[in-house]
Amino acid sequence: MHSDGLHIHHGPRLADRTTLGLGGRALAEIQVRAPSGLETLRDVLDGFGGCGQVLGAGSNILAGDADMPFVLLSLALKQGPRLLRMDDEFMEIYVEGGCMLPRVLGELARLGASGLEGLAGIPGSFGGAVAMNAGSFGSTIGDAIQSLSVYSLRRGLLELERPALELAYRHMGIRGLEGPFLVTGATLRLRSAPSAAIKAAMRRNMEKKRASQPVTAKSAGCVYKNPANAPAAGKLLEDAGFKGRRNGGMVFSPLHANFLVNEGGGNANAALDLMAEAEATVLQRFGVRLEREVIVWA
Ligand SMILES: Cc1cc2nc3c(=O)[nH]c(=O)nc-3n(C[C@H](O)[C@H](O)[C@H](O)COP(=O)(O)OP(=O)(O)OC[C@H]3O[C@@H](n4cnc5c(N)ncnc54)[C@H](O)[C@@H]3O)c2cc1C
Repeated sequence: MHSDGLHIHHGPRLADRTTLGLGGRALAEIQVRAPSGLETLRDVLDGFGGCGQVLGAGSNILAGDADMPFVLLSLALKQGPRLLRMDDEFMEIYVEGGCMLPRVLGELARLGASGLEGLAGIPGSFGGAVAMNAGSFGSTIGDAIQSLSVYSLRRGLLELERPALELAYRHMGIRGLEGPFLVTGATLRLRSAPSAAIKAAMRRNMEKKRASQPVTAKSAGCVYKNPANAPAAGKLLEDAGFKGRRNGGMVFSPLHANFLVNEGGGNANAALDLMAEAEATVLQRFGVRLEREVIVWA
């Protein structure tokens, strides 16, 4: 079904929309396909009588097995990266939230825009990466954000400068803004550098990931954040005996214990049981309360 700038899909399965391949059906999905769709999004959502839950590419979500009482809000605005201005040292580049991050990184390398090489190999959408403040190898996308375009269900379209953002480890919030919002785009400020050097750094980072992470398996990346002042979450899970531990088609990867993998036929209940057991054991053995990085919708 179409409304101006919106596409509506009834009863999408979260298992089809998340990289873990788990989850029941949402009430509907409203996909924004043109900026005009943002003008009616709120009214169309109200028509479903459910609340809205923003979905990117589903690469950081563990959705429960039961059907969900909410409507997915997604974005198919995919323009950019677009060079806005540059001087001898810096480039300002605008990217729409629905772009896929790997394509964005490839384009940034081609443009000679350096700063996000560490993110090579992270799947997902650009908007999802901003919302999660995704990062790797010491750099985060938040480091590069100069300004943000956001659609808030309560306050409509907002243009925000960097000081309005709350950036932390795998978290991006907006000061004074409650309720769901869609990151529709962001302007990045990146340093000019030779394309070849950027591409080489990205290749090196991808190779490191391929060697140490189950990058092609069905997962949502790291399940837990690395705790401050303690060994990495993967090390804690491994030392607690969870590397390779299975339950009902789900396994803490034998390659990297912080990746929970759906081996096929897994379900969210099995995943959550395994996680609860791991969290309790790590707390009991090492006194560390693991904090979930994966967003659980259950
Ligand atoms: C193999 C693998 C490796 C990974 N490696 C890393 C890594 O090294 N570092 C890292 O940080 N992450 C990693 N991840 C996790 C994941 O890829 C990132 O968190 C990614 O940025 C999520 O983007 P997404 O579009 O898939 O978001 P989703 O999973 O769809 O959503 C994640 C969260 O962001 C919100 N959201 C999504 N899109 C928007 C939007 N446009 N506006 C507002 N909110 C939005 C959702 O509501 C949800 O709360 C990995 C995942 C996998 C599967």
